[in-house]
Amino acid sequence: MFESLTQRLQSTFRLLAKRGRLRPEDVDAALKEIRLALLEADVHYKVVKELLELVRERALSAEVARALNPAQQVIVIVQEVLVKTLGQPVALNLTRDKPRIVMLVGLQGSGKTTTAAKLARLLKTGGERVWLVAVDPYRPAAAEQLVILGEEIKVPVSYEPDLSPLAMSESGFQSASNAGASVVILDTAGRSQVDEDMMGELKSIRDRLAPVEILLVADAMTGQEAVDIARGFREALDITGIILTKMDGDARGGAAISMRAVTGIPIKFIGVGEARDALEIFDPERLASRILGMGDISGLVEKAQAGMDPQLASKQVDRLRSGEFTLEDFLEQIAMIQRIGPFGKVLSMLPGGLTGGAQIDQVAAEKQLNRTKAMIQSMTVYERQHPQILNASRKRRVAAGSGTTVQEVNQLLRQYRQMQRLLKRAGRGALKGLSNIM
Ligand code: GDP
Ligand code: MG
Repeated sequence: MFESLTQRLQSTFRLLAKRGRLRPEDVDAALKEIRLALLEADVHYKVVKELLELVRERALSAEVARALNPAQQVIVIVQEVLVKTLGQPVALNLTRDKPRIVMLVGLQGSGKTTTAAKLARLLKTGGERVWLVAVDPYRPAAAEQLVILGEEIKVPVSYEPDLSPLAMSESGFQSASNAGASVVILDTAGRSQVDEDMMGELKSIRDRLAPVEILLVADAMTGQEAVDIARGFREALDITGIILTKMDGDARGGAAISMRAVTGIPIKFIGVGEARDALEIFDPERLASRILGMGDISGLVEKAQAGMDPQLASKQVDRLRSGEFTLEDFLEQIAMIQRIGPFGKVLSMLPGGLTGGAQIDQVAAEKQLNRTKAMIQSMTVYERQHPQILNASRKRRVAAGSGTTVQEVNQLLRQYRQMQRLLKRAGRGALKGLSNIM
């Protein structure tokens, strides 16, 4: 798990007094931390170098704003540099005569077919008459996948398995045109790596059909290779935009900044899940925060909403508000966290402060969560509601029942009391925030 840049910088700067300007040696110390954070987020090392230059320049000339400490000051600068590098969102170009062709390209498994369906759904919601074309004669199952997705979202799909990719595209476009479609999305065939066959095929389609958009679909988990992939596609085709998929996973989004910095091609959408609606318009600020490990509160909020039973949640908020928080609530919280997603992932979306500055090992955290669950489940309902009655013999029973130790039970009770205190201290403001989330 990543330590947030904020925390790193805070400790770098802990000993420094506030001054009007950052000293060069302070800036250099900060740059070292920023470099690590960016590399951990899988930003390409050459891009990291360029970014650091920009940050350095800005940091040395910046006045330290009165409201910020030096660490915060540097973070603001890094954030601004990243946002600038990521570029502003550029809308899908749908200006030409209808039907306009949007061509999706990318390596196998990058998410083209899934994205084709998501994009179709999004455009359909926006009032377009969308048509999908499967352009993959090599993997019938992949094309069938598009047909099924099309049925789900009620968008027609052309799939003529016996044709060449070019003929598939042309014929699909003809059908779409005849049916009065306003947007035609071509789901092209990928390969496992950038290769000439694929590029030749894609070029022939581009030359014949002149798509208004050629979008490179890229897997956010790709890491350092992302740059070569983006370059390869850009050199062969005139890519007009990037869609970064699988940003719901552990990817920190470094691929995005690498691709953007090296190719200059705008990022247009972000794929955040396998569901049909898991496509978001690219938001540079949010992504920059994520790359820096500064937490993604809005992402968390959305996740929380998706993973939660609203009735249960609001009941819990009421209880929390009234200062009541039992081990049963604790158990429900755990279940909820597990529904939302891997524990580490959820925690990583919280800003540094909320994770208490500790480094979190995802696997260990998940395991711990399950042990905690087992312990609470080994208690009677009365014990869960009145943990103070857990004496030595009850604790022994709970430990035995859950395959844990009395020490662990004690630790759980300590955590519980801590959380209870935290909730009390969090007071009205935080609870209001919580109820907004829920
Ligand atoms: P293609 O070979 O490029 O057409 O890739 P697919 O669309 O078949 O996707 C490959 C795999 O990635 C499938 O299992 C998809 O469900 C999954 N996938 C695609 N986009 C996303 C995303 O944004 N998030 C997640 N978690 N999975 C995705
Ligand atoms: Mg596919």
